[in-house]
Amino acid sequence: MLEKVLIANRGEIALRILRACRELGIRTVAVHSTADRELKHVRLADETVCIGPPSSAESYLNIPALISAAEVTAADAIHPGYGFLSENADFAERVERSGFTFIGPRAETIRLMGDKVSAIRAMKESGIPCVPGSDGPLDDDDQRNLFLAREVGYPIIIKAAGGGGGRGMRVVHKEADLLGAISVTRNEARNAFGNATVYMEKFLVDPRHVEIQVLADTSGDAIHLGERDCSMQRRHQKVIEESPAPGLTQQQRDFIGNRCAEACRQIGYRGAGTFEFLYENGQFYFIEMNTRIQVEHPVTELVTGVDLVKEQLRIAAGEPLAYRQEDIHIRGHAIECRINAEDPRKFIPSPGKITQYHAPGGPGIRVDSHVYSGYTVPPYYDSMIGKLIAYGDTRDSALARMRTALSEIIIEGIKTNITLHQDILADIHFQKGGTNIHYLEKKLAGS
Ligand code: ADP
Repeated sequence: MLEKVLIANRGEIALRILRACRELGIRTVAVHSTADRELKHVRLADETVCIGPPSSAESYLNIPALISAAEVTAADAIHPGYGFLSENADFAERVERSGFTFIGPRAETIRLMGDKVSAIRAMKESGIPCVPGSDGPLDDDDQRNLFLAREVGYPIIIKAAGGGGGRGMRVVHKEADLLGAISVTRNEARNAFGNATVYMEKFLVDPRHVEIQVLADTSGDAIHLGERDCSMQRRHQKVIEESPAPGLTQQQRDFIGNRCAEACRQIGYRGAGTFEFLYENGQFYFIEMNTRIQVEHPVTELVTGVDLVKEQLRIAAGEPLAYRQEDIHIRGHAIECRINAEDPRKFIPSPGKITQYHAPGGPGIRVDSHVYSGYTVPPYYDSMIGKLIAYGDTRDSALARMRTALSEIIIEGIKTNITLHQDILADIHFQKGGTNIHYLEKKLAGS
């Protein structure tokens, strides 16, 4: 097993990783910015290293500072969490070249999946269904691009190969707008991501977001752990996630899940990962792969009983997968609400001191959060301050437990989006299940 892990992250995921390490008897190193001395996991870690000033660029994204923190503490592995450097192939490479284990896939896999054009190509070759489109980058041949779009059929979407976080995309509804959209997206992509490559996909009108969780070990074995439905989104940011996806059959799960596991074997994937799909009319369309642990991983943990972060640590230590595909059974239903420090209507971040905090509890309730009474949410980072997760034998029972938990939670001193979650939980269409990725935006717009 690993002996000492440096946690290159902050907030709830840093605490989640610390807890998994403790369970496995692994010592921990917490790194933090000068604004984060009061973080819960910093207080609980075996060792701590201050890596820089508040700005992420100078702390959590500061590769030399992270490597030297690992050196001075003699850590043997680095867990990147999610966000920050978790999908940065150069970081993974530097970590391994410096003699540490990177808790994630090989750098070349991160690079392959980080470019959406190369990712789609690799996935197609592995038998993963993709969105119909240009089958590679668009060139400067206007006539060819007009022809391609006609073949695919409008509406289409122009996407940047290096895009992320919902940026670098443009929907085109009619031919007259196509060439302009390609050149604007190309310029934006060049400026924002340093990569002017763009490609074309059919724009799916009312899809759901359904993603498959996978685990793969260093010897090439891979399994899937079912799906999560993350269709409740605002500005491409997930707000609520659940597992299983309402209405998905075991046959559909086996079909797409087994293909994802097979793709992992073919590309030599290592660690935890997620295949993201748009799902429409019973069909899956691959859009991208996340080569890291995800925010919404707890819903999968609750319905499968597998601790994904512990599995990441075991895999990084070179151990074979502890589960075979036939050991994975989806039982019951889990749902997660992301709790953000923000105005519930205007969505403006609301950092500041939490004067009172009371976490909910009871059967089937899990709270993954680093906050406590007296903790000050700094203004420099993401506004998510925790996740509330409810489990039940059925979806209705998970929803009922979530409603109770939302009514119990007390966070005073800052604004939070708890009332937004209460509104969504009270929505009859959400209660029925299966709403699409545009549902929340339309509901918020009052239509
Ligand atoms: P990012 O890496 O920026 O998250 P994705 O490729 O995952 O980009 O797409 C983000 C979101 O954009 C999707 O969840 C979906 O809402 C929308 N989207 C992307 N591609 C399509 C498409 N072909 N049709 C419809 N919506 C799309």
